[in-house]
Amino acid sequence: MSQGRYYLDYAATTPLDSKVLEKMFPFFTDQFGNPSSVHFWGQQAENAVELAREEVASCLNAEPAEIVFTGCGTESDNLALRGVARAQRNLNGKTHLLTTPVEHHAVSHTAFDLAEREGFEVELLPVDSFGMVDPDEVARRIRKDTALVSVIYANNEIGTINPIAEIGRICQEKGVPFHTDAVQAAAHLKMDVQRDNVDLLSIGAHKFYGPKGAGALYIRKGTPVVAVQTGGKQENYLRAGTHNVPYIVGLAEALKIAQSNPEERAHHYQSMRDALIDTVLTRIPGSQLTGHPVMRLPNHASFVFDRVDGNTLLMMLDVKGFACSSGSACKTGSPQPSEVLLALGIPPQLALSSLRVTLGRDTTPEVITRFVEALSDCISQQRR
Ligand SMILES: *Cc1c(COP(=O)(O)O)cnc(C)c1O
Repeated sequence: MSQGRYYLDYAATTPLDSKVLEKMFPFFTDQFGNPSSVHFWGQQAENAVELAREEVASCLNAEPAEIVFTGCGTESDNLALRGVARAQRNLNGKTHLLTTPVEHHAVSHTAFDLAEREGFEVELLPVDSFGMVDPDEVARRIRKDTALVSVIYANNEIGTINPIAEIGRICQEKGVPFHTDAVQAAAHLKMDVQRDNVDLLSIGAHKFYGPKGAGALYIRKGTPVVAVQTGGKQENYLRAGTHNVPYIVGLAEALKIAQSNPEERAHHYQSMRDALIDTVLTRIPGSQLTGHPVMRLPNHASFVFDRVDGNTLLMMLDVKGFACSSGSACKTGSPQPSEVLLALGIPPQLALSSLRVTLGRDTTPEVITRFVEALSDCISQQRR
């Protein structure tokens, strides 16, 4: 960690775990083969990819053949939505996509693109003031022509965890494929595609101390899906392109670590996060938690503040050495309130004051104490 600087933006990305880097390293150098090659080098690389596939499958309680390696979480979401939507339309003419107003852009922009350019119909489920989906609403809105349901597992902006297993059960009963964007969730919650009745699940390595540019998509056996990218026959024809062997190895190792004892780690984060939330809400007048108070990611705190400009706040905090986010990964210069916050019923002006603080392996209680001090100063200064 840089001297006097504190990273509190682990939902945006995490540093690479040194154990993960160590596992990746040989595949940049000695074991550089192409897994599609027939010879020794090819076999060596193929073995590494297949071992990684077994490890990822085991972490998710899936079969190795149900794992597709991709270039990132966004790509996994694209393959899930575009792949299933197109397969369903071709197979049985279904064109209704049921999703939520609190998805990451990787899902929402993909769904809207399918609507705009390919004639699919996108329906957004209602969410409550915490950004949570009611499974009964899913049951009510599934139609005969519903091609896919997609609901975010744990929200990147507001931390809220959805009742995925219940939603999955409903989709299963109705025979509709169910996708969940678990890119944030996989970093902190035990994943299990059988328990959760999920047909497709997206993950991205850089959210759990793996490399950027590596993702995976779980696709339950028998789920209708067509390739989005064509070319070679890699990944059972679902993701053409030479395997990024070191990154695939890194993703598997990072996921193994993240999924080894998530409950224990959650406990550790939760006490610091709760202290952070409590002190902010009591010390800073006009502050409000966004997202669910309990059903939220253990490392995630998010707020809005009366009479505060969020971008200015981020810059002031950065000057004081604290790296946070407004919630979405938008850079400054786009004064658009977050669609997620608007969907919770937060007024646009207030939504522009959003702050997301996400803790990680290097965060200590002392950092939290200093952070709240700094935050309180920045907000008083702005309001003066
Ligand atoms: C980060 C994130 C993504 C995108 O993943 P990338 O690997 O960065 O493409 C998608 N969904 C959620 C919920 C995320 O937090």
